[in-house]
Amino acid sequence: MIYKRSSALFNEAKKYIPGGVNSPVRAFSAVGGEPIYIKKAEGAYLYDEDDRKIIDYIASWGPMILGHAHQPVVDAVTEKTKLGTSFGIPTEIETKIAKLAVEMVPNIDKIRFVNSGTEACMSAVRLARGFTKKDKIIKFAGCYHGHSDSFLIQAGSGGATFGEPNSPGVTKGTAKDTLLANYNDLESVKKLIEENKGEIACIIIEPVPGNMGCIIPEKDFLEGLRQVCDDNDILLIFDEVMTGFRLAKGGVQELLGVKADLVTFGKVIGGGLPVGAFAGKSEIMDYLAPDGPVYQAGTLSGNPLAMAAGLAMLTELNNNPEIYKSLEEKTAYLHNGIAEILTEAGVTHQINRLGSMISVHFCENPVRDFESAAKGNNPKFKTYFHGMLERGVYLPPSAFESYFLNNALSYEDLDKTLSALKEFAGTLK
Ligand SMILES: *Cc1c(COP(=O)(O)O)cnc(C)c1O
Repeated sequence: MIYKRSSALFNEAKKYIPGGVNSPVRAFSAVGGEPIYIKKAEGAYLYDEDDRKIIDYIASWGPMILGHAHQPVVDAVTEKTKLGTSFGIPTEIETKIAKLAVEMVPNIDKIRFVNSGTEACMSAVRLARGFTKKDKIIKFAGCYHGHSDSFLIQAGSGGATFGEPNSPGVTKGTAKDTLLANYNDLESVKKLIEENKGEIACIIIEPVPGNMGCIIPEKDFLEGLRQVCDDNDILLIFDEVMTGFRLAKGGVQELLGVKADLVTFGKVIGGGLPVGAFAGKSEIMDYLAPDGPVYQAGTLSGNPLAMAAGLAMLTELNNNPEIYKSLEEKTAYLHNGIAEILTEAGVTHQINRLGSMISVHFCENPVRDFESAAKGNNPKFKTYFHGMLERGVYLPPSAFESYFLNNALSYEDLDKTLSALKEFAGTLK
């Protein structure tokens, strides 16, 4: 039994933590079996409690874009810790990271820091509603914006996996203000706007979704959204919690050249500590308290350790823009390798990729929205996931998640990954 100690730890955890985990996807419910427990991580590798070295393709769901325990980040946090860990009063480092983020991301003047991506999206929507004085929002099936009530309507990943798109506890009153459109389907958006004339505050979207696998925006889709927002006084919110500082220094706004009115961040911006943020033009951001009427606050927001980790991470990315090219090349290499092996083994599949995000779907037709993503063959995905894990490769434990490559991965790691797949690709037929 290769997961002996992990299994024992999971059983102990289940006595005291609901389901044994503090975030549902970690329980491996979608793929069966039990989660592995991690003892430490370094570079591209996780080390589990059973002393196995595992190549990591999740990078803590994105933040560890430069690999685990990246030295400049570790040093920054270690030094800061010695000076006290929280004051609840302003510190200089908050301005430093804000200034850097505003320089790196196009089209934003001001940024406010919070503690998670959930908080960032929840606050951005409140701001959009306060600013436009309208109540309704449009989101897309399969897009995940954290677990705040308004977003738990066909929310991809965890929600989709567990077949509970509408969680109990979300009131009908809240749900009725969230309108659902289909990704890559501008007509579905226009229809909702038509039916709710003058009532829609904002459209929130993962511009490149990663929570129903990786989905690529089709030509003119994001541009079309920008246009309908302009035509109808609707704010466009890009949820770049996953894509921000990952697909490019300036996220999807930079990569695809489409402007959002508000942008949310998380994951990479915290360098592995709990950080989220939302940003936009001064005109909108100044509508926040204390200058404006929209309330938003946080005891640990702008926490010095979190800011130190985030600042070190963003500084690395800003100073070494070649990282993005390197990540993209590695991801393309992996893509080509997987495609070749699966094709040779006669396994029907689809691979979606942009930059360092990639997902493999066991289905016949292109995966371009939630409906097509849901057609993937889940039993095959389970075999694929466990086959890779047994061979020391950790992929997302759900068919509805993207992989996030980190730049500590070497070509040797990628080749090992491909060799692992080759060993059992025939069983995926
Ligand atoms: C992870 C994620 C969130 C939620 O962030 P948390 O830090 O988990 O609250 C929101 N939006 C997107 C696109 C995400 O990937």
